[in-house]
Amino acid sequence: MIDHRRLGRELGLFVSDPLAGAGLPLWLPAGAAARHAVEEYVRDLERRAGYRHVVTPPLGKRELFELSGHLGYFADDMFPPMRLSADDEFVLRPALCPHHALVYRARGRSWRDLPLRIAELGDMYRAERSGVLGGLARVRAISLNDAHNFCALERVGEEVAEILRLIREAHAALGVRPAGFRLSLRGPGERYVGDDARWARAEDLLRAALDGVEYAEGPGEAAFYGPKIDVQIVDAAGRESTISTVQLDFDKPERFDLSYTDSGGARRRPVMVHRSLVGSMERLFAYLVEVHQGAFPPWYAPVQLVVLPIDDGQDAAAGRLAADALAAGLRVEVERAGSLGARIRDAARARVPYVAVIGPREAADGRVSLRLRGGRTLDPMPAAEALGLVGRAVAARSADLLPAG
Ligand SMILES: [Zn+2]
Repeated sequence: MIDHRRLGRELGLFVSDPLAGAGLPLWLPAGAAARHAVEEYVRDLERRAGYRHVVTPPLGKRELFELSGHLGYFADDMFPPMRLSADDEFVLRPALCPHHALVYRARGRSWRDLPLRIAELGDMYRAERSGVLGGLARVRAISLNDAHNFCALERVGEEVAEILRLIREAHAALGVRPAGFRLSLRGPGERYVGDDARWARAEDLLRAALDGVEYAEGPGEAAFYGPKIDVQIVDAAGRESTISTVQLDFDKPERFDLSYTDSGGARRRPVMVHRSLVGSMERLFAYLVEVHQGAFPPWYAPVQLVVLPIDDGQDAAAGRLAADALAAGLRVEVERAGSLGARIRDAARARVPYVAVIGPREAADGRVSLRLRGGRTLDPMPAAEALGLVGRAVAARSADLLPAG
């Protein structure tokens, strides 16, 4: 398996620049196109599963992160606070939970609002040491697919099971092949908040949700506020990391004094479930580039279709096909410069899933010759039929280049 940094450079997905800073990669147009396709998919998956999306700022007042416990338990991983004036300090957030707790308590909540699933693809920052940074796998600015599900204690098991189902669905669409599930538990030491009984109860709930799933235990891998289920992946160098996570938190609802009124009118505290279906966009793409060797499924390929007129005579036909593809929502480019063989090789090097070749005969009767990534060529077909085929494969979010049926 090739390192994602080398492929990322070859495919023009992202670069690093010392002037921008280590761990702060720049996503180039091809990388941004693929990432946006994935972001839209994840947002849509969440919306259909009852999530409500919010937008919150990547920094906040120091007091917010004192209240959340991050400055007390997590400061080593955070950038130092920025001081505007003696009583006005700001912190680059290391997590989205404090803002989402504020969203929860922005109005009164009743049992009818629960489970309340607050989601955001939001930016956060970690003060990683420069020695561990590389490509997209370890970065200092992180765009996290995140959500916080607030629910009644008796509903937690069902909620976690539903999250695990969504994780599996997202993995299947993206082509993620997990290396295993891990139950991350508290280790020795003082960096954990909350009493033993609460930790034991949270652990029991997660074990129950993992019933029937094979998993390993990871002592010392829990978040500072609670145990979690982590879905692990392995990169090209054999290093293991977490791509998806479900975490139980009894602590933040107390710190932020979150509550809801139950059906009998009593005030009760919700449980906060932190979850990420696909992790950060950075780590996800570091993994996807390696696991697919840059040949992404058509639905998130940076360029889905390249149109190649054999010579100037087919220029107009190529332009029409590209315009129709664009109107159909596809990412398309026309390449005119160089020999046909060289352009086909360039498209193959860029891992473009579909290449439409138009020669004089095809142009004359409105047909194209479609070449699939990997070398297979289909018989010439009407241009609209070719676009229909590509469109169906993209819509199916399948890894197959030919749509079923
Ligand atoms: Zn969180």
